[in-house]
Amino acid sequence: MSFCFPPAATRSLAIAGQTERFPVNRIFCVGRNYAAHAIEMGKDPTREAPFFFMKPPQAIIDASTPQGMTYPPMTKNLHHEIELVVAIGKGGRDISVADALAHVYGYAVGLDMTRRDLQGEAKDKGRPWEFGKAFAESAPIGTLRTVSEIGHPSSATIALTVNGQPRQSSNIDQLIWSVAESIAQLSQYEALEPGDLIMTGTPEGVAAVVKGDVMNGRVDGIGEITVTVR
Ligand code: MN
Repeated sequence: MSFCFPPAATRSLAIAGQTERFPVNRIFCVGRNYAAHAIEMGKDPTREAPFFFMKPPQAIIDASTPQGMTYPPMTKNLHHEIELVVAIGKGGRDISVADALAHVYGYAVGLDMTRRDLQGEAKDKGRPWEFGKAFAESAPIGTLRTVSEIGHPSSATIALTVNGQPRQSSNIDQLIWSVAESIAQLSQYEALEPGDLIMTGTPEGVAAVVKGDVMNGRVDGIGEITVTVR
């Protein structure tokens, strides 16, 4: 096959202990999946059905080593959201909760960077969230740890500091919808494919960063990432 110009490069993530890389297909994100974050966003944290939005693969920054991210245009309120990232290794549709974890290849730590002012404007006007969420470099993600190495963590501290100061701290056991439940729900709407990522939502403490800020995020037992806004 030949193309009229070179196709976009495949975005990928590092895998701990391997030279092979994980090719990123689609990026699904779960909205408001920690009660304390739903409350800080002015929403009712009762357990309504999960909802999802997406980012394009161009959002990926390979943050397996300390990285920079460009402060994006058209915003004055860029927020950090530290998240547990699930990497899908086996596709499927209508996956049951009981079978869901068998579809997971591994886990990583990621940031769902958000142009909060644009997201807020979209919410107010009933418009799509894309410009608030789906911009280039909006998803720095660290090294993947495989299920064969670490299993399926269900309780672990998730935390973020900015310039060494604590901003977000919680535990992944506070997820309203578990990893298995999120996979099951999502697969009812869209057949999952190998290479898909699911960003599982952020705990409370989201706030703005500015140029020069250094974000350090971690999920204990999975890893940490360091990203400088430039
Ligand atoms: Mn998020």
